[in-house]
Amino acid sequence: MAKLVFESWSFNEHGDEIEAVLLNKFSLKIPLEEFSFLSELKVQEGALLFKKMSEEQAEHKVNFLLASHLSELKNKRTGNKAVYFYPGCGIPLIGNVAWGIVYRDSSLIELKPQTSCNLNCIYCSVGEGIHSQKTDFVIDKDYLLEEFDKLLDFIGEPVEAHIGVQGEPFLYADLLPLINELNSRKKVQVVSLDTNGTILTKRMIDELSLNQKLRLNMSLNAMNQEIAEKLAGTGYNLQHVLENIRYAATKIKLLIAPLYVPGYNEEEMPRIIEFVKSLKLTNRPFIGIQNFLQYSSGRHPAKQAAWEQFRQKTKEWAVESGINIDLKPEDFGIRKTKPLPKPFKEGEIIKARVVCEDRFSCARVAVAKGRNISINPCHSKTGAEVKVEITRDKHNIFTGKVVK
Ligand code: SF4
Repeated sequence: MAKLVFESWSFNEHGDEIEAVLLNKFSLKIPLEEFSFLSELKVQEGALLFKKMSEEQAEHKVNFLLASHLSELKNKRTGNKAVYFYPGCGIPLIGNVAWGIVYRDSSLIELKPQTSCNLNCIYCSVGEGIHSQKTDFVIDKDYLLEEFDKLLDFIGEPVEAHIGVQGEPFLYADLLPLINELNSRKKVQVVSLDTNGTILTKRMIDELSLNQKLRLNMSLNAMNQEIAEKLAGTGYNLQHVLENIRYAATKIKLLIAPLYVPGYNEEEMPRIIEFVKSLKLTNRPFIGIQNFLQYSSGRHPAKQAAWEQFRQKTKEWAVESGINIDLKPEDFGIRKTKPLPKPFKEGEIIKARVVCEDRFSCARVAVAKGRNISINPCHSKTGAEVKVEITRDKHNIFTGKVVK
C-alpha cells in the first residue's frame, strides 16, 4: 500500500474526477480513469492511497499527472486561470512587477508569492479584487526562498524583505512559514508585509508575533463603516479590522497606512490619526498617510490630489494631532545597494521562449537569460520562440513587444 501526502497538494474525489487542490486556494481536475493504470485508488483526508504500488512509483505517476494538467489550474474562489511556479520549473522569478521577486537596487526586496484579493477597493492601483479576471500566479515557498537566497548572496548586505503582493498576502496558504523562514535569515533585518487586515485572526497574530523582525503595514482608510465599505468596494468588517489592529499593536510592530482619496475620506484622516495615537505604538514609523495616485492599471474613483495640496493637508493633520506623520525613505532605512546586472537593455531585440499567459489573456510571459519578460500583446503558444524588442528594462522588470 502506498500513501501519498503532498506538502502543497491535497486531493478530493468528486464522482468520476479527482480534484487536486494546490495550497488550499487553487485546483485542477483529473478524470478518475487517468489514475486507473495506478492500481486501486482511494482518497483519504486529502491523501492518495494506492493498493498495489510502491510509494516511489505512485509519486512518480501522480507528479506526471499533475504536470500534464497544470495548465488547467484555476483559482477556486474566482474561477480565474492560475499559473504555478515550483522548484525546477525553469521559470526565473525576476522580471515581472506582479509576481516573483522585484529588486530595485535598494535594500528593500519585494517578494510576491501570489496574486489575488478578497476586497475590491475602488482605488486599487493594480485593479485587483474579487471581480478581477486576470490570471493569478502562485509560487512555491521553497522556490521563492531559493531565488531570494541567491539574491541575498549577490547583494551581500542586510536587507528588508517586503511581502507586497498584488492582492492580499494572507490568501497565500504558506505565508506564515514564509515569514518564519525570512525572519530566520541573518541578512534579513526587517520582514514587512502589506495587508488589508480583513482575514487576520488573533491566533494568526499570536503566531506572527514570534517573528521579532516583522512589521505589518495595515491599511485603514476610514473609522466609519459605511465609508470604509465604500472604499473597499465590497463587504468589509471595519470592527474586525480595528480589533485586529488593537490586538496586533500589543504584540507586533505596526505601520498604519491610510490612503487619502479626495472626496471620500478626508474627514476620516484626523479620526484615524486619533485611533492610531490611542494604540500607543512605540516603533517608528507607525503611521504613513498615502496620497491616492492614478495608475493606468488601476481604478480611478477620484482625481489625484496635487502633491503640494496633499503635503499641505498632511501638515495640517500633523499640527492638529501633534504627531509627526510625514514619512521619508530614511524612516525605513532604505539604502542603495549593489545593482543587479541586466541581461538585456531597452531597445534590444532578443529571442525568448513563451512559458505561460501573463496576467491578461492577450499577453504572455517569456523567458531568456535568467529573466522573465512580459510581452503584450502576444498570443503565441507555450513553448514557442518569439523575437522580442525590449520596451522596458528599469529595475530588471522587463516588458517587450513581438517583432518580425
Ligand atoms: S488595494 Fe489592496 S486590498 Fe484593495 S483590492 Fe487592491 S490589492 Fe486588494
